[in-house]
Amino acid sequence: MVILAVESTAHTLSIALLDETGRVLVEERDQLTTSEGGLIPIKIQEHHLSVLPHLLKRVREKAGRAWHDISRIALSTAPGIGHALRVGLITTVHLANRLHIPLIPVHHGLAHLTSGLLLTESRNAVLVYTSGANTQLYTYYDDWLSLVGETLDMSLGNMLDSIARLLGLGFPGGPQLERLAREGKTLLELPYTVKGMDIAYGGFYTAVKRLIEAGRPAADIALSVQEYAFAMLLEAAERAMALYDADTLILIGGVALNERFARMAGMLTASRNARLLIPPRHVLGDNAIMIGLEALRRETCEGFTPLPPARIPAEVQPYARIPTRMHYARCLTLNREHLTPGKV
Ligand code: AMP
Ligand code: MG
Repeated sequence: MVILAVESTAHTLSIALLDETGRVLVEERDQLTTSEGGLIPIKIQEHHLSVLPHLLKRVREKAGRAWHDISRIALSTAPGIGHALRVGLITTVHLANRLHIPLIPVHHGLAHLTSGLLLTESRNAVLVYTSGANTQLYTYYDDWLSLVGETLDMSLGNMLDSIARLLGLGFPGGPQLERLAREGKTLLELPYTVKGMDIAYGGFYTAVKRLIEAGRPAADIALSVQEYAFAMLLEAAERAMALYDADTLILIGGVALNERFARMAGMLTASRNARLLIPPRHVLGDNAIMIGLEALRRETCEGFTPLPPARIPAEVQPYARIPTRMHYARCLTLNREHLTPGKV
């Protein structure tokens, strides 16, 4: 069995092929970036439609004979930006009909969690999921996934992108701030809001805006934003680890690409004698590999029956949330090499 997976919820269009063991055969992606300003839905749609034929062609060429073994299509149908989600839906409906194969719809956020959970045998972990649109803490305990904390307003990634925008930088802003922060010298004072296992970044963003308006050096601002914002989230994560006596901390989502964030998380786990797991870099930001993995888990571990072309829903679900508490069956464990295209 070969799964063709498509990620098209926001800034990135990605297509991957995986086999029935979760081994990645091919992955191609193209991310919309801007030199200033953020993401405009219609621009995302234009981007995805323009790169789609090239990505498909490259995947097909690299797939060789595996292309003819495709027997499942996986798509993240929720949540995301409607304009982007519909590009994925139209593409996969077309392919499902043409190749006469069924579709497995998956939740994009759950796919991020799966990209971490399949890489560990821990049965008691805390997951920090922080991306452009989400900042949430989950516990995975005894085959149950529970939302135990989250941002009360902006997500961390969105806040970093918004600050970068104020500084005249483009999208994605997180990597640009990370670069600037390396030149920062002075830690400027900022608000610090942790409420139980929840955090809030709205007031923080306003305070940063004031620092920018006051003309403070951009590098010092970037440094301070990272120190405070990451410390807040990791304090909430530590509270969750202490409360649930977790042995593993898993970072997933695009913000986990940040080296300072990873280092701070490493200090936290070292102090608790716990393990830190960060999936390979190409699986952290949005990608089709995790979509294929979640589809495989859904079918293999949860017994989901793939939808034949006639039963594929006609609409996407931009606002669907992961249930606050859900049973999560895990019957596969992978190693990192499985996730490198064409490696094993
Ligand atoms: P995702 O939605 O999971 O693809 O994550 C995208 C988010 O990750 C955006 O908000 C980016 O700014 C953020 N991001 C990507 N790379 C970094 C980085 N090196 N440091 C901080 N944030 C980052
Ligand atoms: Mg994402």
